[in-house]
Amino acid sequence: MALGSTLPSRRRLALVLTGLAVIGAAYGVGLLDGARGSLSRAAEAAESRPSPAAANFPRTGAVRDNDRFYYPGTEALAPDEMRVTACGSGMPLPRLSQAAPCFLVELGNGEKFVFDIGSGSTERLMSLQIPLDYINKVFVGHLHMDHMGDLPAFHLYGPQNGRSEPLHVWGPGGGGSPPEWGMKASMDHMDKMWAWMQGTLVGTIDTRSFELHVTEFDWTKVNNVIYEENGVVIRTIPAIHFEQSVSFILEWKGLKFAYSSDTVPNKWWTEHTQGADLSIHECFFTAPMFIDWYRFTPQEALNASTLIHTSAQMFGKIMSLTQPKHAVAFHFSNDPDTLPLIVDAVRETYSGPVDFAKDFMVWNVTKKGTRTRLGVANPNRYPLPPLHEKQMADEAERYQTPTWVMEGLEPRMLPVIQGIYDGFNEQFGTSIPNPLQQPSE
Ligand SMILES: [Zn+2]
Ligand SMILES: [Zn+2]
Repeated sequence: MALGSTLPSRRRLALVLTGLAVIGAAYGVGLLDGARGSLSRAAEAAESRPSPAAANFPRTGAVRDNDRFYYPGTEALAPDEMRVTACGSGMPLPRLSQAAPCFLVELGNGEKFVFDIGSGSTERLMSLQIPLDYINKVFVGHLHMDHMGDLPAFHLYGPQNGRSEPLHVWGPGGGGSPPEWGMKASMDHMDKMWAWMQGTLVGTIDTRSFELHVTEFDWTKVNNVIYEENGVVIRTIPAIHFEQSVSFILEWKGLKFAYSSDTVPNKWWTEHTQGADLSIHECFFTAPMFIDWYRFTPQEALNASTLIHTSAQMFGKIMSLTQPKHAVAFHFSNDPDTLPLIVDAVRETYSGPVDFAKDFMVWNVTKKGTRTRLGVANPNRYPLPPLHEKQMADEAERYQTPTWVMEGLEPRMLPVIQGIYDGFNEQFGTSIPNPLQQPSE
């Protein structure tokens, strides 16, 4: 089913209005009532008051309509069910409406995997209200910024974000490509780039999540197993996208998920993704669209849409050749004026089931088929608790701001800070000493 293109227009309007009402209510809570603790009151009010959209298009049941929307944190997966969420569906340049590519795969056995983590995707991943310790495996298809640009943010804000576990990343390298282009070298440099940030935080917060485990795999191998645990097998096939690029295939309990990352359609994809339950493949702007929307020259437009990426007609053809049970097109700007052009181009070469991805589109995949909904993100999300009790670095390892810098503290702050410590200790029953306390004269 092509969400947005086959629904009757009345229902589509209801979908849009209800979505806006939900998001509007969430924003309104923060903007209109700044008092602490108002969230639950406002939520109660929203539950008891029918929205204007509901009044115009009456439905049975509560305001929450899980038939059409996915509310993160409210649904357990069946033991043999897979849920995939688009946390980035757009083009390389991130924008407010669509982050660069990122897909979260959640399995009924509790395992979660992130495929690509493009610019702008971190806040979307976090808005799904999953404790970050559960999202600790990231697979990068190639080292373009639109496929891994948010890795530093996702990793380095782990301590503040409730992550207590190390992060595990997989990425391509080897196969004759220069070693300095590989995932290992890239992650070494990421570590170095953020050395100051990591070093100065030691001792002020639990920084154990800075531990990073990198697995670099040979991108040239075909159907190469790079992960095998708890009944989950993840394989890579080479992609045609410069060099050192791959596509991923995840198999679990008889379900097959295929994710192209970036590629020109190729023989490996044709052979190894046949009949996939969910086949997510890039579907780039057509060459004329690049001229209209991106001011590309004709040569630049053709290069981008046919030699480096998969233009919409090519997407349709590869889906016709592989016949997935359910196809998803992504990596294009999904706007009211672009979508019809993309749909028309895809339909030149493919007549099967396909969704045209937007951020927060959600797919529930079982052997019976795939169900598509839009997820309702929490735009005001706060960190969820880590799995492990917090633990500070040993005294000897803790970072200390140089004395002369601390001596620059505005002296009239000292009584204010002392008051904060006194009040805090009284409120929380603690006895944490104020390290800035002046010696009593
Ligand atoms: Zn790319
Ligand atoms: Zn890309």
